[in-house]
Amino acid sequence: MELISDKIKVKDILEWKKGNILRVNPEYQRGAVWKDAQQKKLVDSVMRGYPLPLIYLHHKKQTIGSITREDFEIIDGQQRINALYYFGEGAIKLFDPVKDDKEARFPQFIKDMPCPWANCNYDTLPEDLRNKFDNTEIFIVKITTHNEDEARDLFIRLQAGLPLNAQEKRDAWPGGFTEFVLKYGGKRELVRYPGHDFFRKVVLNPSGDRGEIRTLCAQIAMLFLQEATKGNWMNIGTKPVDDYYYQNLSFNIYSDSVKRFAKVLDIVVGLFNGYKGPKLKVHEAIHVVLLVDSLIDEYTPSWEKDFINAFDTFRHKSAIDKKAKDGEYWLKYGALTMTQAAGASTIQARHDFFSRKMLETLQPIKKDNNRIYGLLEREILYFQYRKQCVVCDEEIHWEDLEIHHLDEHQHGGQTTLENGVPVHKKCHPKGQAAINFLKEWKAEKEKAFTNNSTFAPDDFTVEGTTLSANNGSIKYKIESSKKGVLAVAVVNENGKLVILKGSTIASQVSDNFDANALAPSKRRKSLIEDGSIDENYTFTRDVIFNSKSNAASLVLGHSANGNFFWVPVREDIIK
Ligand SMILES: [Zn+2]
Repeated sequence: MELISDKIKVKDILEWKKGNILRVNPEYQRGAVWKDAQQKKLVDSVMRGYPLPLIYLHHKKQTIGSITREDFEIIDGQQRINALYYFGEGAIKLFDPVKDDKEARFPQFIKDMPCPWANCNYDTLPEDLRNKFDNTEIFIVKITTHNEDEARDLFIRLQAGLPLNAQEKRDAWPGGFTEFVLKYGGKRELVRYPGHDFFRKVVLNPSGDRGEIRTLCAQIAMLFLQEATKGNWMNIGTKPVDDYYYQNLSFNIYSDSVKRFAKVLDIVVGLFNGYKGPKLKVHEAIHVVLLVDSLIDEYTPSWEKDFINAFDTFRHKSAIDKKAKDGEYWLKYGALTMTQAAGASTIQARHDFFSRKMLETLQPIKKDNNRIYGLLEREILYFQYRKQCVVCDEEIHWEDLEIHHLDEHQHGGQTTLENGVPVHKKCHPKGQAAINFLKEWKAEKEKAFTNNSTFAPDDFTVEGTTLSANNGSIKYKIESSKKGVLAVAVVNENGKLVILKGSTIASQVSDNFDANALAPSKRRKSLIEDGSIDENYTFTRDVIFNSKSNAASLVLGHSANGNFFWVPVREDIIK
């Protein structure tokens, strides 16, 4: 990068602007523009002979055919140049420090000084003052670099002290993912980035483009491109999004997965075409896109005509449960939009609930063969069994996943969620092995469970009763008021909480389970008794939630996925 410091007269820089030699690269520009008062104050500074901050220009030379074109892109200083320009064009009338005190708010010593330019615009300015304005010299830095990224980097550093929000900073990052998000998310000020209709018309667009929609676009794209629903749920808060930009500098905007992304968005736009209901909120946008992605390949399009109805039903039931601060649509979805809404396990839990409910209503029909589970069912079962093979208990890679019909299809078993379990390809029981497996499965289930292994948080109460202290382990019961004892848990020698299904380890929940801490229900009771919280605080999946103030106040712990719910007491108070 080469720098040349220079001075230029105001009248010359305004000529450059008029002659289109000074150009704006909108990628560098922030959404917010200067208000009237800021512009007037800048010209007032010029009239007082105050120095202006440096203006940074990117000197660009382009040879087209035999003609060499030279111009400057403003890296920093656009708002200042605009203020001078509007004044030069007669569009601004300057402050009278005394009369305009309410707006101008000049210090007293300024108000005491004569101000011959008060109330003037360029044309009514006395001639000597007009000359002074025209001939004021501005310090500029001309930068020569052939690397566009270097200019962008400079912009970021110059802006470091200014209140750019997280997305505005990302917009100035070099690299393919920036281009991708601008293209699909859109940037209002830029004609060439109108954005995809999904983000323009289907999604709720907060007023004032400060980048919320582009952030959402980046978040959905991250989940989509990383195939979250196939085992890769990820956090999509500020830091992970920043990291993703950084890791994808060489992102290919023309890749097949980007084409797929566009195709899914197109389909969603089609589904919501003419939709009269409220536009999609952030969480709805995420789950709708991911769900449609799971539906489009393996099912006949029969679900499409029912989609809006199913979605409206989901919204309707969510609204009812939200009002009651109770019911599964609240506990398993609504409440999960309130806290840690961008956390991997929260998004996964919400998506699981959303997909199941949509699947129930849509009843999508498999294209070819009804004895194979569709993508959506595979995704749901994969997470329901926390990626574990029910035969060997080892983790399954998505590519190795098969779904076993417990009750075999050839014997009339249905291709339903209830009848499917995830297995490795190599573990998939066939023939006699399948019959034996079913026998064992049923026996084990009867031992520890009375129903299937998916339990909703509100299905049972967690009682941390010490049952025995043999071998240094402490046992807990996980009980359901409806279904009795569901499982037991022990704290092993290493302090890990281990949940047992029958005699098999189902999961290790926590590395730092406090065996002496009270179980959440007791903890809640004691918090109510000592006046810390009132009865309005109820349990959700991972928080105590105040139904009156709408505030999630006390994080107690969380379930690893949607299946089991066990809440070791934690003292973390977030508010
Ligand atoms: Zn296996």
